[in-house]
Order: sequence, then structure tokens, then C-alpha cells
Amino acid sequence: MSDCIFCKIVNREIDTELIYEDSKIIAFNDISPVAPVHILVIPKEHFPTIEDAKDSDILSHLFSKVVEIAKMKNLEDYRLIINKGEKAGQTVFHLHIHIIGKRDLKWPPG
Ligand code: AMP
Ligand code: ZN
Repeated sequence: MSDCIFCKIVNREIDTELIYEDSKIIAFNDISPVAPVHILVIPKEHFPTIEDAKDSDILSHLFSKVVEIAKMKNLEDYRLIINKGEKAGQTVFHLHIHIIGKRDLKWPPG
């Protein structure tokens, strides 16, 4: 997808703070972190939302790598977020998992 910002990160057309990469996925720091650790883990293949990826093998790979990356970052407790759709807060329509850690993770807040 030529106009997708995360495809551009995958293709190295946009610079990012790379955390991990293999043949299927890439992980990098979120540009506007909401916590001391805020990493995005994405498939290299362009799936607009989780719905588009539901029948792909990529989900199991993504999630097992998410756990490895959290360990690599010494996170004992962390929150994983996938926003699906505009009303849920999805702003980039290339599937991504947020790893959020090292802040108060009580849920719901307040
Ligand atoms: P979402 O709201 O779930 O679609 O999350 C999109 C996330 O992508 C937001 O947390 C943004 O801060 C992040 N983001 C957007 N552009 C970039 C970029 N160039 N590099 C790193 N993170 C980005
Ligand atoms: Zn994309």
C-alpha cells in the first residue's frame, strides 16, 4: 500500500526506532508514547485491520513475538491494545499491536 505509513516504515521509506525485525514482522517505538515503554508490533504484510488478518497464520506469530519483545524489554506486566476501526481509536489502518508498559496499568482507570 503506497500511501500507508506503516508500509513505508516496513520499506524503510520512513525512519523509526527499530526494536525487532524478522521476515514477517517488525517492531518499533511509537512516535507519541503514552507510557515509558510503547512499542508497536506489525505484520510486514498490509492488513488494514485485525478482521482482515483473522484467517492468516500471522496472528500467532505476531503474538508470540509480542511476548518475546516484552520479555526483551524486561516488562513483567504490560498491556496489549489493538484498536479496530475509527470509533475504537484506530488511526493507522495497518494492523498493529501496542505494547504498553512501565506505567500504572490499573484498568479501568479511576
Ligand atoms: P492507532 O490509534 O491504534 O491506530 O495507533 C496508531 C499509532 O501509530 C499511534 O499511537 C501513533 O502515535 C503511531 N504512529 C503514527 N505514525 C508513526 C510513526 N511514523 N512512527 C511511529 N509511530 C507512529
Ligand atoms: Zn500498510
